[in-house]
Amino acid sequence: MRHHLLRFTMLTACVLGMAQSVSADACYAAKKQPEPSLLDAYSHQIAAAASPSKKEQAQETINAFDKRKELYIQTSMITGIPWFRLAAIDQYERDITKVRSKTREQLGNWISIFVTEEAWAGQLNPDNQDEAPVSIRWFKGLGSDGDGDGVASRKNDTDLLYSIASHLMRYGDAEDDFSIGVWDYYHNTRSVQRIQQFSKIYETFGKLDLFEHAFPVPVGNNYSYKGTWGTRRSWGGYRIHEGTDIFANHGLPVRSTCYGIVEVKGWNPYGGWRLGIRDLNNIYHYYAHLSGYDKTIQVGSVVKPGQVVGWVGSSGYGKPGTQGKFPPHLHYGVYRDRGLMEWSFDPYPSLRQWENEERRRLKKKR
Ligand SMILES: [Zn+2]
Repeated sequence: MRHHLLRFTMLTACVLGMAQSVSADACYAAKKQPEPSLLDAYSHQIAAAASPSKKEQAQETINAFDKRKELYIQTSMITGIPWFRLAAIDQYERDITKVRSKTREQLGNWISIFVTEEAWAGQLNPDNQDEAPVSIRWFKGLGSDGDGDGVASRKNDTDLLYSIASHLMRYGDAEDDFSIGVWDYYHNTRSVQRIQQFSKIYETFGKLDLFEHAFPVPVGNNYSYKGTWGTRRSWGGYRIHEGTDIFANHGLPVRSTCYGIVEVKGWNPYGGWRLGIRDLNNIYHYYAHLSGYDKTIQVGSVVKPGQVVGWVGSSGYGKPGTQGKFPPHLHYGVYRDRGLMEWSFDPYPSLRQWENEERRRLKKKR
């Protein structure tokens, strides 16, 4: 898989004066773009337009989850496609729109599926604004009437969701059939993988409200970190540091920062024993130099924020099992999937925020 290869060359271990140059280094200059606290901005984005207060924002976010769940369940009952698969497609589309907002508009109120006018009406349809189900069907367009008002509206939540669902339904309702349908729709194995991953996350937790975060090591312990993302390494070429190093004692628990699914586990010469977790914002969370993994963690395991996934160590910079070439620390990096490659952004502002939130929670408990 192409993106795994890319990641292998791009995700590299921390410096500590021991950097090695890698083939993908040429891209690093372009990738320097700090995005403060982006991880958290996402969960409130839906509410950002109108409401000023944080409380109201949170409330609207919850309403959005309720509205969407209702739409998924309705459409699921009509089409037989489980709600969590519809949720996965919608969330995947929402993530794409976030990184391609110039070419993709938000069509529905709550649903983020994007369909071009041509695809909706049919490529050969002379009227690309066509909303008549019969003529759309004639021109093999995607548009269908989901809410029964006789109109197939591209900007109606129910019609949008139903149109995609009824298209996929033709492939059958087993999981494999669904994946074939998804592949045929996107023509991209990465899209299929993401939608399978998101489905599993939604199915496991049975809800949509899955955007909380946790600090990657237990707050209150002895550790230290600084914002070193993007700093040049002292030697070994042009690489920049794509993450934050949290220095701590060997064996301190490492925890998932998000709700997500384990995408990568195992040895990498730079990162040592490392772990990659994908979340519903299509962000890849990378944990490196571990001393070991929690026994519950396998590729495909679904995790939640604060769940122990492994332990701090000093593995890396050599063949499998190499350790002790630098002081123990957790290297934590975040990458956003932009379709063709994954871009690193600075996790430091989010780390500070999650740490503060956890400190506040701990104080309350006392
Ligand atoms: Zn590092």
